[in-house]
Amino acid sequence: MSKINCNNCNLVFSSELEYYAHHITAHKCISTSIKKILILGGGFGGITTLQNIEKKFANDPVEITIISNDNFFLFTPMLPQVVSGLIHASNISTPIRYFCKKAKFLQANVESIDLDQQLVTIQRSFDNKLHTLEYDYLVLSLGGKSNYFKNENLKKHSFSMKSIEDAIAVKNHIILMLEHAAQTGNYELQKNLLTFVVVGGGFAGVETISEINHFVRQSISKFYKSINPKNVNVILISSKDRILPEINEELANTALRFLEKEGITVLKNSRATDAGEEFVLLNNGEKISCATLIWTGGITMKKVISELKCEHGDNGRVKVDETLKIKNRDNVFALGDCAWIPDISTNSIYPSTAQHAIREGKIIAENLKISFDSKNQLKKFSFNSMGIMAIIGNRMGIATISGHDISGIMAWSIWRFYYLSKIPTFGKKIKVFVDWSIDFLLPRDVTLIGTIKKKEIHGIHITDKIPSIKEQLSMKF
Ligand SMILES: Cc1cc2nc3c(=O)[nH]c(=O)nc-3n(C[C@H](O)[C@H](O)[C@H](O)COP(=O)(O)OP(=O)(O)OC[C@H]3O[C@@H](n4cnc5c(N)ncnc54)[C@H](O)[C@@H]3O)c2cc1C
Repeated sequence: MSKINCNNCNLVFSSELEYYAHHITAHKCISTSIKKILILGGGFGGITTLQNIEKKFANDPVEITIISNDNFFLFTPMLPQVVSGLIHASNISTPIRYFCKKAKFLQANVESIDLDQQLVTIQRSFDNKLHTLEYDYLVLSLGGKSNYFKNENLKKHSFSMKSIEDAIAVKNHIILMLEHAAQTGNYELQKNLLTFVVVGGGFAGVETISEINHFVRQSISKFYKSINPKNVNVILISSKDRILPEINEELANTALRFLEKEGITVLKNSRATDAGEEFVLLNNGEKISCATLIWTGGITMKKVISELKCEHGDNGRVKVDETLKIKNRDNVFALGDCAWIPDISTNSIYPSTAQHAIREGKIIAENLKISFDSKNQLKKFSFNSMGIMAIIGNRMGIATISGHDISGIMAWSIWRFYYLSKIPTFGKKIKVFVDWSIDFLLPRDVTLIGTIKKKEIHGIHITDKIPSIKEQLSMKF
């Protein structure tokens, strides 16, 4: 159980209630020094910050609250493997409450943030009511959303690849296309149903297309004998003259050759400019007939971040200094995909990756503690990534680790070993390991799970007024 220290007389209390009672009686003071730390977002940035704050503030009178619209933390590097049915969706999702030892979790949508008044307005998920929360310290870690470059048709007719719902929806859609293709005798229609297009030549796009390619071709050979595999078309669209701009060109070419060998068509120097229900149009005028279009073409910010009254970098990200603090706001920090963080050593900005968000979260927790203890010098964020890696096919990976390029089964094994070790709980690690092991023995599952029906409870009148600790105390004394 966590303990709370009274800073005035060095006594230790086992609960907030005991601490309040002591403060009121011993120090004759109704207002306490309990500070409120609010963390917005339960992704890599938010969860790492939370875990480190919980340790650093274990004995301090602080109230920590984390707010996220999902009640789980999502391990995104394995999202493409959910699309292909290699891993069960729930095995890469960990309930945020698992990380809350001292903190409170609220499943709600963050609607607006008022930096001047130090207020955050949230909408609760069960009754859609708006609530306003005060804070003393704020951590912004709300990530980003898919960037369609204001093209409504691309947004409407493509799947994105950011959430667990996206991955499940894509998987179901692919299986549905296979079922339809197995029934039609119309060659043109079958080709359309069997054309799978992913836009985006970065890591997310390459990993997604390779998982889809493997899943579709394996499922056809095992379960859809009436489909001619020659009618399958798996296409990756990259706006650059290469794929994987994050790694050196030679390694990227190795990856390209492997994808092409596996039957994937890679269209370079191509941009998707329009889309409909059954096609995607490229900037060179080529119209690709396809029933499946997946968008991994970059990220932009949600309004709650892009409209925040502070300085912004490209795509609306919040500008922070080297200590990850927003300019002129000593109590507001930002990290992860929603932050624009200067890298002084290279005169550029840090990339938006999970690796970086994790390191940033650790620094923010340290800086919060320094601010709380009224020490002066905050720590500066500096991080040189040890490496970068991706899985691009069955037992095929690519990696650059400490400047060395690796490809093949070795890189694939390192990827699996490294990312397995990063999954938050022992139970989930085991489950993912079991999923991977089963894949050596059995074909992927083509069960088509329908949409899940939710029961709306907005009409239920719930009286949820819980007396605050101060009110509870005044009842007692
Ligand atoms: C398919 C895919 C594969 C990837 N693979 C890798 C990889 O291999 N290695 C790597 O380093 N990086 C990878 N990334 C990038 C990595 O996922 C991100 O850089 C990282 O998740 C950023 O962390 P974050 O905390 O800033 O944002 P996120 O992890 O996106 O978390 C944002 C959180 O905020 C919550 N949220 C958002 N808006 C609201 C709101 N209005 N109200 C309440 N809650 C809200 C979300 O539910 C979420 O919990 C991948 C990304 C994708 C999509």
